[in-house]
Order: sequence, then structure tokens, then C-alpha cells
Amino acid sequence: MRKSIYFFGGGQADGDAQQKELLGGKGAGLAEMTRLGIPVPPGFTVTTEVCNAYYAAGRALPAGVEDEIKASIGRLESLLGARLGSAEAPLLVSVRSGARASMPGMMDTILNLGLNDEIARGLARRTGSERFALDAYRRFILAYADIVLGVPRDRFEEALGRARKQAAARLGVDATRLNAAELERKVPDSLLDPESLAALIQRQKDIVLGATGRPFPDDPYAQLWGAIRAVFDSWKNHRAEVYRKMHDIPEAWGTACNVQAMVFGNLGDDSGTGVAFTRDPSTGERRFYGEWLPNAQGEDVVAGVRTPHPLSRSGSGGANEEDDCSLEAKMPEAYAELVEVQGKLEQHFRDMQDLEFTIQQKKLFLLQCRTGKRTGRAAVRIAVEMAKEGLISEREAILRVDPGSIDQLLHPSIDGSAPKRLLARGLPASPGAATGQVVFSADEAERRAGQGKAVILVRSETSPEDIHGMKAARGILTARGGMTSHAAVVARGMGKSCVAGCSAISVSQGQMAVTIYDDHGHPTDTITVKAGDVITLDGGTGTVYLGAVPTVPAALSGEFEELMVWADAVRRLRVRSNADTPHDARTARNFGAEGIGLCRTEHMFFDEERIQAVREMILADGEAGRRRALAKLLPFQRSDFVGVFREMAGLPVTIRLLDPPLHEFLPQDEAQLQQLSRAMGVPVKELQRKNEELAEYNPMLGHRGCRLAITSPEIYEMQARAILEAACEVAAAGIEVEPEIMIPLSMTRRELAITRALVEGVAEKVFAEKGRRVDVRFGTMIELPRAAIVAGELAEEAEFFSFGTNDLTQTALGISRDDAGRFLGAYVEAGIFTKDPFQSLDVAGVGALVEMGRDRGRAARPGLTLGICGEHGGDPSSIAFFERAGLDYVSCSPFRVPVARLAAAQAALAAGSSRGPRATD
Ligand code: PEP
Ligand code: MG
Repeated sequence: MRKSIYFFGGGQADGDAQQKELLGGKGAGLAEMTRLGIPVPPGFTVTTEVCNAYYAAGRALPAGVEDEIKASIGRLESLLGARLGSAEAPLLVSVRSGARASMPGMMDTILNLGLNDEIARGLARRTGSERFALDAYRRFILAYADIVLGVPRDRFEEALGRARKQAAARLGVDATRLNAAELERKVPDSLLDPESLAALIQRQKDIVLGATGRPFPDDPYAQLWGAIRAVFDSWKNHRAEVYRKMHDIPEAWGTACNVQAMVFGNLGDDSGTGVAFTRDPSTGERRFYGEWLPNAQGEDVVAGVRTPHPLSRSGSGGANEEDDCSLEAKMPEAYAELVEVQGKLEQHFRDMQDLEFTIQQKKLFLLQCRTGKRTGRAAVRIAVEMAKEGLISEREAILRVDPGSIDQLLHPSIDGSAPKRLLARGLPASPGAATGQVVFSADEAERRAGQGKAVILVRSETSPEDIHGMKAARGILTARGGMTSHAAVVARGMGKSCVAGCSAISVSQGQMAVTIYDDHGHPTDTITVKAGDVITLDGGTGTVYLGAVPTVPAALSGEFEELMVWADAVRRLRVRSNADTPHDARTARNFGAEGIGLCRTEHMFFDEERIQAVREMILADGEAGRRRALAKLLPFQRSDFVGVFREMAGLPVTIRLLDPPLHEFLPQDEAQLQQLSRAMGVPVKELQRKNEELAEYNPMLGHRGCRLAITSPEIYEMQARAILEAACEVAAAGIEVEPEIMIPLSMTRRELAITRALVEGVAEKVFAEKGRRVDVRFGTMIELPRAAIVAGELAEEAEFFSFGTNDLTQTALGISRDDAGRFLGAYVEAGIFTKDPFQSLDVAGVGALVEMGRDRGRAARPGLTLGICGEHGGDPSSIAFFERAGLDYVSCSPFRVPVARLAAAQAALAAGSSRGPRATD
């Protein structure tokens, strides 16, 4: 193992920004800031390797580490002229977690460590404020009891309430009719007087003794060991595990533990604390942005219990913005220094930074600096603007944006012209529109979402315990907390709509009371919203509406278009879309699709007007009857294809001939059979007999795909005719068409030879009838392991292959697509698969088949076009594989097209296969 402890302080640091793996993001940031000469309270980082060793030893600190920590405390003591355990010159420290990737609020933090009764008295003498010293002490006991000793915070609520009541009595406030929230508003923490605090501390200690059977630890070193262990333990707490899973953070990373000298933002009105971003994390706008609270500790801002004030005079756009409360107005010197520091840090790190600062008696300290989390919209804007400012290259800009996050940009927003009933306004914490039924607890959100309901989670404020409910909800609404509150930060990370700090609502006993205000801000009414009522959130404006409000599709920004242009310039893989209708084709093209990679013709069969003819075809005895029914379908199919070809003028359109087994088109339940019987004049019994005749044990492995054409070639004949007639018609209108006819589920050369002859026969007839020829390409899907193995033979008949990785995954793994959901979760949980192989390609297995198909296919036909049209075509990590595998294109659903374009560009840059002049900048 390397060094266990990395010290920072006095302008020097053992570590630096490069050492995130070892020091965690926070530790690396503190070291780097110290090196840059930025004011940072000194401290040291216990490395992630120690955390891993701690777990390896069954949750014990490795030998020697305690001594090293003591030595580092000694260094801190001599640097500060204070001592841990001294009442005359007390050293207090914070103990915080800090993993390689930021996991806001998921792990534990303890502040003010090093206090006991005597030291608290010493601190009071030294700071001249008994109130401050006791407040720090009671906060410390509360956090320590909760995190280290396992006595939950809510056990102390009542004691705190009593202290507030005592203070209220001294202040002459009548507290008899106030509920807890009102009491807190009337008697905030800052009004708790020393007597009430002293009594509260005693009660807290009694609660600890009662709950644990032991007195609260008085020895600062005992406190320190407990806190360090608890920080390491928190790496494996439930919420951290959920968060890691959601964000693909490996457990093996471990967390570092930072021990740092305390500075106090709660030393009076010339102190404060806050959080800042070097650019707006919601919109990406280049403006210094953040929030602060006077006379407070960091946890107050993040916990969202008090709604903070903006930093600058121009304000945060928040509901409670009041210019005169801004840091700029209250402490201009500290503000000016902070502005300078943030500029320096952004230039240094060349990315948007998220800062935590504390001002202790007018002196500024930075407590954290890390790359700031941002919405997809902000990520795009920041990357593009930084490239234009010359801070990063275009290539870096492409790599900066997580393709998954731009999904958010493509989400709908509230329809401005739709009638709506305004309920309340809060902070625009995370953009996007969301409609759903109100739920008041995370468990309820999870339960109802599990039943397929759209829900909005409404809370006074969220805490990390709510993470599963936030994940399940469509949107999140909180009564308290600012733009950097837990709810806001987590929702932005999830790309979920969130309105925070909506002070017009108050949540209690399973309902939400909403105060309605008139234009002058006077309350006029109160509305009660109950669980199950529907509301709509607009996270982009911070507005809450009653009922469901219609939404409009996303409008993409100029920066987004620019980023896409840069991405397109470096990407090698083409991006097509899976689209079945002219409407989908248009959406896909608007998103930049370069063709259609899969048009599933069966989707056209389900339309009300057509299903009748499809059923007639299935029920017909003999070929003549089938042909009569198919003749009715032909004009429908042709007009669909005309629409699709027109939308995709000049681009290839791959149309797959019928794939599903025919019984999928017959109704199964009694009522529908009766209806069909009446409509077709066929007895119900006869229909049931047909159903039984067509029923299969394993439909996915049954009579489907091109197997249908071997037994009933007239189906494919009709489809080929519809495609080719449509192509001729569109070409006759002067529009360029590039039809590609694709055969599903082939496994032998002979199947392709037969279907190809069939298509070519139809083509010759149609061309003769129409008096014109169009180029049409013939190809196949590769969806069976055998197809990949005999790809050389298949390529003799096919001009293109499209890997149908949905079926190829199903057939290679022998896992049914339809049943996998029941047990794949357990497979991922057990680490058998890192991700669901139907979402993210199983590179080792299915990927190897793709490579085999590629090699054997290309060896037989060097110009063979290779694409992929399974769901994996829109998955960034699978796209990285398809790039490495040298496929020609991926095809995905229309809304994934921009994601795929960006992912393909990143994959090209990573694989060194990018094209165009920008690749080298
Ligand atoms: C596939 O199998 O990957 C595919 C695209 O076809 P479908 O999903 O329609 O079976
Ligand atoms: Mg398939």
C-alpha cells in the first residue's frame, strides 16, 4: 500500500488534482486548491486504499494508520497553534467522506468534532460566544449520535422542540398553538439561547445513554476513530449502494476520508456559508451563481432547512430572492474574493466548478471544489461555450457531454398555450415537465410507480433516504430548500423535473395545503391536495399546476446543434433510426437520422382498418383466399411506404418483411373472438380451432421471420410489391429513393436464395408495369448464432447485414426476451452480468458473434454493409463496441438519435477512428 495519509495546509499539499482515485474528488480538490494558494483550512486525507483495506480486514483500520493519523493531527496542531482535546486552544475538525465520483449526500459527514463539556466552555471563552460554542456542541452530538452511534436524528426532535419552546418563552413568543414547522420558523436555531442549548445538550446525552447504554464519548480521539470508521462504513450504506448502482460507480473504488480543521460560518452576522457554481448548473449560462446563508454551517444550506439567499445582486432567480440579502450586498469584500477565486478555479480546472465556502468573521475559506454536476442542457451549453472561449478544444467539448444526459433535452415541456390552473411557484430546480399523482413518501412513490402509475413525490424536503422514491417518481416537489438542496441536486443528476423551495405549500399528515396568492402577493385562499390528486410540475420555471397540463416536444438549443455538428464531423459510424411510420420517420430525420435502419412492417398491420384484412388472410383456407385478403392490404402498405420514402428522400430506408408469428394478429379473449366472428361471418368455434392450430410452445423460436415466407410466399410477395410500387411512385415524383428489403431471422443461405428470387421476381414485374426501375438492395438480419457462423454463405446472397441484437441476445444467451425481466435483475444484482444484456450489449458473447458475422460476411463480400438495429443501437456503451467493431451504422429509436450521434463521436475519438479535420485539434 502507498502512503495512507496526504496532508494539505500552509500552502503545501502532498497530493494534487490528479489523484482522485486515491484521495477522492474532495481530497484531490482540497490538495490542489491549497497548492494554488487559495485559502483552505488545513487538514489531511485518509486514502481510498485505507478504506478498501478497512473492509478487507473486516472493518478494522490497518495497523499503523492510527499512528499516522495522530502524527498528522500533530502537524495540524502546530500549524494552527491549537490542540485536539485542549480547552484553552481547542482544535475542532470535520470528518467527511469523499469518493472518486461525487455522490452528493449519500455518505456521512461529521462537523465540530473534538468537543466535550470542558472544551465547549473553552471554545466559548475563545470565541467570546457561549451561544455559538453550545450550538456547535449540540449539533456535533446530534450528528455523531446519528452517524456513529446509530441513534437516529428523529429521536432528538422532541428535545429540540422543547428547547425551542423554552427559548420562545424567554423571547415572549406564544408557542402554544404552533406546530413544529411554525415553531421552527418563529424560533430558528439562531435564536436558541445558551440556557436552552445547555439543557438540550444534557437531554441529547441522556437520549444517547438511554439508547446505547453508554455515555457520549468525551475523548476527542475516541470521537475521531469512531467518525473515521463511520465514514468508511457509509460507503456501504443502503443509499450509497442505490446511488452507485444508478450511476455505475464500482464498489471497489472505496471512499477517502477527509479530516480538516473547522472554520465557522455560524460565528455571528459577519460569518456565513454557501455553495457556488462557476456557471449556472441548470441552464449552463456563464454567470457566477450560488446561494449562501448568514450565520450558518454548511449543512444548513445543503439540508435545505432554511431557504438560502443569492450570492450576487443580480440574484439566483429564486422565489425568495431579495437583493439586499445577497452576499455581494452583505459582505462585499468576501464576495469579491470569492469571485476572484471562482474565476481562478474554473480557469485552472477548465471546467465548471462546484464550490463550498465558509466565511468566518469576514474571512473567506474554500471547503470544497469539484467538477459541478449539471443538467444535460447546461452540459451542452457549457461545453460549447468553453470551446468557443478557447478554454477547451471542440474535441474535449464532445467528450464532456454524457450522451445519456442529453436525453433530458429531448423531453417535452409545458404547452404554453394550454389552459392550466396555477397552484404555486417554487424554484426551477431541474428542468422538464412532469405530470402525475401526488404521493407523500418515497415508499409510496415506489409502490405506485411499480403499479405503472406516474407519480410526483411531494415532501417538505428530501433527504438521502428518499432516493428510491425519487428514482421512481416522474417529478419532485419540495416545500423547503434551495437550488442546491438535496432534492434539487439529486433530481438534476437524474434528469428529473423538480420544483424546490415552494414555500406556498405545507405538507403534513398525508396532504398538502397550498396557499394561493393574488398578484400582489396577498394570500387569498387555501387549497388542499390529497394523495392521488394529479399535479403537473414545470421544473424549468419552478411552476406547479393543478391537474394534467399538455406538453410540447423539446426544442433544441443553438448550442446543441453546434455540438452535434462537431460530433458529426468526427464520428465515423452512421446513425439511422428505427421508424415504422411517416411520422416517426420525420421525427427521426429532425433529430439527424441518416436513414431508416429498421422499418417493422408488422406495426402497420395492427391499424384498425388493416387488422381485418390481416385476419382474413390468416383465416383463409388456401392460397387464393390469402391472396384476396393480401390484395386488400396492398394499398395500405404502399401508401405507408410512400409516406416513409418521401420523408426520407435521398436516404436509405431498410424495410423488414413480416417477422412475428401469425397468431399474434388473432384475438385471444372470448369477447374479441365473438366480435370477430360476427364481423367475418366465421363461427367462434372455427376461430378457436384456428387459434389452436397456430398456437406454439415457443413462439419466439417458432413459425416466424422468413419461415413465414417459406410456407406462405404470397405475404412477402405482397410486401415486396408494396415497397417497390411505392418506390417507383415516389421516384416518379422526382424524389430520390433508396429502398432496402430486409429478411428477418434467416439462418441458411437457401432461405435467402428463395426469398431473394421472390423479391427479384416481383421487382421485375413492378418495373415492367411502371416503366421505370429503381435501385433496391437486398439483405438480411443476423439474429441467430447460426447466421453469424454461416455469415460467409449468407453474404453471397445479401448486400447488407443488420444485426438484430435483440433476438441475437435472446438466441445466443438462450434467455427469452419476454421472460428475462423476471430474473435478470437478480443476475445483475449477483454480478453475473454488469448490466442487463438486453440494454447493454454482452460484448464477450453476442459481441463475438457480431465480430464473427462481420469477418465472415466481409470475407465473402468485401463491400457488405453492416448495421445494427437492436435496442443496443441507442446505448452509448454498446455504440462504443460497434465503433470498435467497425460496423457501418447503428439504428435506434428516433429520440435516441442525438444520443447515438454523440456517443458515436465519443467512441470514434476514443478508438482513434474519428474522421475529418477536427479530429486532430
Ligand atoms: C432484433 O431482434 O434485434 C430486432 C431489431 O428485431 P425485433 O426487435 O423486431 O425482433
Ligand atoms: Mg428480431
